Order: sequence, then C-alpha cells, then structure tokens
Amino acid sequence: MPRVTVYYTQNCPYCRMAKAYLERHGVDYMAIDVGSDREQAKKMVELSGQYGVPVITVDDEVIIGFDAQRLNELFGTAKGEDVTDVLIIGAGPAGLTAAVYCSRKMLKTTVVSENIGGQALESWAIENYMGYRMVSGADLMQKFEEQVRSEQNIHLELDRVRSLQREGDLFVAETATGRTILAKTVILAQGKRPRKLGVEGEERYLGRGLSVCSTCDGPLFRDKVVAVVGGGNSALQTAIEMSKIARQVHLIVRSTIKADPSYVKQYEERKNITTYLHHTVSGLQGNGMLTGITVRDEKSKKETTIPLDGVFAEIGWIPNTDFLDGLVPLNDQKEVIIDINCTTATPGLFAAGDVTSIRTKQIITAAGEGAKAALEAYAYLTR
Ligand SMILES: Cc1cc2nc3c(=O)[nH]c(=O)nc-3n(C[C@H](O)[C@H](O)[C@H](O)COP(=O)(O)OP(=O)(O)OC[C@H]3O[C@@H](n4cnc5c(N)ncnc54)[C@H](O)[C@@H]3O)c2cc1C
Repeated sequence: MPRVTVYYTQNCPYCRMAKAYLERHGVDYMAIDVGSDREQAKKMVELSGQYGVPVITVDDEVIIGFDAQRLNELFGTAKGEDVTDVLIIGAGPAGLTAAVYCSRKMLKTTVVSENIGGQALESWAIENYMGYRMVSGADLMQKFEEQVRSEQNIHLELDRVRSLQREGDLFVAETATGRTILAKTVILAQGKRPRKLGVEGEERYLGRGLSVCSTCDGPLFRDKVVAVVGGGNSALQTAIEMSKIARQVHLIVRSTIKADPSYVKQYEERKNITTYLHHTVSGLQGNGMLTGITVRDEKSKKETTIPLDGVFAEIGWIPNTDFLDGLVPLNDQKEVIIDINCTTATPGLFAAGDVTSIRTKQIITAAGEGAKAALEAYAYLTR
C-alpha cells in the first residue's frame, strides 16, 4: 500500500470528498489539519507550492486539490449500475431536505454531491435560520447531515454528476469517478458556484494565494495581508471574519456596499479593513505565489498596486447547470425554470433551491423547496 497523506482544513468540502473517496476505495491515509497545525501548514505549502487545500501526497507524488481522475488512475474506478427511485443531485440545504422527505416516503433515494452542506458551509455565521439565534454554516449542515444519515433509505455518495440524460423511462447519470446511476426521477439541487474575477492569471493563482472558499483557506492566512473582492453579504461576512485572522484586510468593491445592515454594522466596527469603493481588480502579481493585486479606480481610472498574501473573491455565483445540456429549459440566468410545485418541463425531473429560477436564495427557502420537490417526485412515482 502506498503512503497517503491528506492535508486538510476542518470546513473544506473538497477535503471531505477526498477523504470519503479514499475510505470508499479502502485506502489507509494520514490526515493532517493544516488549519490548526502551523508547522504542517508551512510544510504543505513548501511541498505543493499551494495556499489551498486539500493537498494529497501518495508516496512522493503531490496531488493538488481533489483530482478524482488522478486518484482513479492510482486506486481504480468504482464501477456499478443501480436503479434508484430518486436521484438527488447536490447535498446542500435543498438536496438534504429532499432526501429526508423521500426517505420518509420509503423511496429508494440516492444523493450524489461534491460536498455535504453546499454553500451554507461557507457561511461563518447564520442568523436567519429558524430555531437558531446564531449558528455557523458548518454546524447547521452537520445537523442536516446527521438527520440524513439517520434515515434508512438514503444512499449518500461524494462524487460529481458530469452528465444527465433521459433514456426511455429512466434518467442516466454519469459521475466524475466513472459511476453510472439509473433513476426513475431526479431532483436537481446542485446550487451555484462562485463567479470568477475575469483577470489574467486567475487560474494560475487559484490555490496559490487566490481563494474562492474563505472558510476553507482563511485559517492559512493568519497574520498576513489579504484582500476580499465584492460588496455583498458574502464579501462583508468574509471581510469581517478575515479581519479577525489576518493582519490587514483590503475590501475591493466595484460600486458601493450592498449588504444587510447587521453585516454593515459589524464591518464598520473593524479597525483593520481598508475599503476601496468603485474599484475593480485589474491585475494579479506574483512569482509562483500571489504577492499583490492591482486595483483600478473606475472613476479616475487610476491604478494602485497592493502588496498582499491572499485574495478572496466573493463576487457572485453561477448556477451549476452546465451538464444539463438541453435536458430542461433554463432562464437567461441559466437557472432551471420551475413552477410553484418545483416541477420542470421534463416529466420526472424536479428542481429545488439556488439552481432554480426562484428569486429568493436562502437556506430556509432552499430547504422548503427541497421538501416540495421530494413530495412532487413521490406523487409522480405513485400516480
Ligand atoms: C458565504 C455565504 C453566506 C451565506 N449566508 C447565508 C445566511 O446567513 N442565511 C441564508 O439563509 N443563506 C445564506 N447563504 C445562501 C445559502 O447558503 C444558499 O441559499 C443555500 O445554500 C442554497 O442551497 P442549495 O441546496 O440550493 O444549493 P447549494 O448550497 O449551492 O448546494 C448545492 C450542492 O450541490 C453540489 N453540486 C454542485 N454541482 C454538482 C454536480 N455536478 N454533481 C454533484 N453535486 C453537485 C454542491 O457541491 C453542493 O453540495 C450564504 C451563502 C454564502 C456563499
């Protein structure tokens, strides 16, 4: 057996996915929490040239990120074909709630998701989910997961659906690790993903100072200088939390701050946040690792370079609908069009949460829509 080490942080979804993959393939590994162990964090950065997790070492090979293709080459592809009553794509608030409702209707339920918890995992503090005065996204999603795992009829897999088609009466899903899943009905609950900055060098610096997951990578920037790009709730939340970890936070806002008053109040109280209103990121500098960004004042067009160690992009989200490829109508935002009962134009195909055309994108509404989609799938199967 090769020597396998996984460098991870507590809240990183891809770390959990990598560990679940290794466990599914019966691979023994050592797990090192680089969020709490600064010496090991330094070692990981030296080994990988990365300020991002997970990093996996297999003997002398260093694998950056959850690279399912490379892991399959090393440990073999999981094969198999199952027919399930309901396939739920995504295990955020919508998918996890849908799973519990399906299970309670005794439906054979398969959930395939890249992580368990979805975007909510990225929230440092949730103050508007009923029953909790304040809870971190990770803790809330842990509760959701515990409830799903206590149900008998749910099979939960950490994987990514890369294609979905209809063949006769069944849906056929192919996953990133090479599995084929056959389903009588499907609930799309795959949410959205972060929007890119759109500047030269973005791909090169991703994980090398540029991050789209502050709850995953934030602890690696202790006492360093970082920038947060964006002016909405997510950006402000990240700036507030990073101001408690990093020495200095630069907040780059394209126009003005458009966040909830409660976040604005906390942000105004932080002394180590410098704000650049009406600025955009026009360049990234570095030599292997990110060492600075250039920001442009959109009014005067003047450019300023800020030396720093990390940048967190919090500039919006794109629905995860690329793999649907004509299977179901999308709106001009590429969201799945649903009616008030979470049904799509394709019989047997339902959708819930942030991936849909519903305007409100919140945990409580995603969970509610997940419940509706599950009950509609049940009605469809028993009709
Ligand atoms: C930083 C931040 C803070 C937030 N704070 C709050 C808050 O305080 N209160 C609140 O109510 N809302 C908050 N939100 C919004 C809230 O998190 C979302 O509205 C909610 O998570 C949407 O749930 P969802 O299940 O529809 O989608 P998501 O949470 O996006 O979950 C989608 C799931 O699908 C998986 N997936 C995606 N593509 C695939 C694929 N091809 N195959 C398999 N799986 C896939 C993803 O990995 C994920 O697990 C916040 C969001 C962010 C980013």
